[in-house]
Amino acid sequence: MKTFHCNRCEQLVFFENTHCENCGAQLGYLPEIKQISAFEVIEDGRWKSLHPEAKDQFFRPCHNYAVENVCNWVVPADSPETLCCSCQLTSTIPNLSTR
Ligand SMILES: [Zn+2]
Ligand SMILES: [Zn+2]
Repeated sequence: MKTFHCNRCEQLVFFENTHCENCGAQLGYLPEIKQISAFEVIEDGRWKSLHPEAKDQFFRPCHNYAVENVCNWVVPADSPETLCCSCQLTSTIPNLSTR
C-alpha cells in the first residue's frame, strides 16, 4: 500500500486518510505531484499546502470531497472547475436528488 507522511508532523498517513491522526491536519491528494499533502485551512475556505513541492500554493477540495465525501483530491484555488480531474473523468456519480 502506498503511504505518505504528514507535512506538518511527519506522521505516517495513508492515501485514504482525510486528516492526520496525530496532529489533525487536513489532508488531500495533489494530482500534479502525485502526493498526499497536509493543508492549513484558511479563513476564506481555501487550503494552503504544506507540502514542500507545492508550498504556499492554494487549493480547495474537490466538490465530491466537500459534499459527498467520496474523493480526497484537491483542485487549484483559482481553477474554474469544482471537480478534480479524476471526478471530471468519472463525472456520472448518480445524482441522488433526482429520485
Ligand atoms: Zn500530522
Ligand atoms: Zn474528485
